[in-house]
Amino acid sequence: MSERLVTMLTAEAIAERVKALGALITEEYKEQRLVLVVVLKGSFVFASDLCRAIDLPLRIDFLGVRSYGEGTESSGVVQITNDLSRPIAGEDVLIVEDIVDTGLTIAHLMDLFRTRHPRSVKVAALLHKPARARVVVKVDYLGFTIEDKFVVGYGLDFAEQYRNLPYIGVVERS
Ligand code: 5GP
Repeated sequence: MSERLVTMLTAEAIAERVKALGALITEEYKEQRLVLVVVLKGSFVFASDLCRAIDLPLRIDFLGVRSYGEGTESSGVVQITNDLSRPIAGEDVLIVEDIVDTGLTIAHLMDLFRTRHPRSVKVAALLHKPARARVVVKVDYLGFTIEDKFVVGYGLDFAEQYRNLPYIGVVERS
């Protein structure tokens, strides 16, 4: 069986969109206590580009989650494998996600963070697959809406491979 990658979003298209999101966030978070919460591992590439497109003082923290049990179906059970390094009370939290698929991970994180009394919680996601939504989540800063395909690259993996691809692609097997 051979595997090939089909490009869905080029590095250039992603860079342009991430810059625009950064400019929008810069505009909307003036005078706020912005904390980017990077959801590991998949969001690390998006977050590193996004944070450099935001021209404001900000703090960055990381959250390790495991949302899939076996295979690629979301189990709805979100396990925190590595919690934030500092409290977020009174701060303006922007959750940085690679992709919102069923929405279960983000919904769970929003509920969790609200118990910690931040001033606000919003979501920035590079990708959204609305076809697979199981709960309604509001993505405040969205890169791209995509069709229901399993994508890799730009931080996203398949069995821990492909995270280093500079573009978003679909793995096709024949
Ligand atoms: P949700 O809870 O919204 O179903 O799942 C979100 C997480 O599932 C993402 O952060 C990501 O880790 C994983 N995921 C969902 N769709 C894809 C996909 O198409 N490709 C990859 N590599 N991961 C995905």
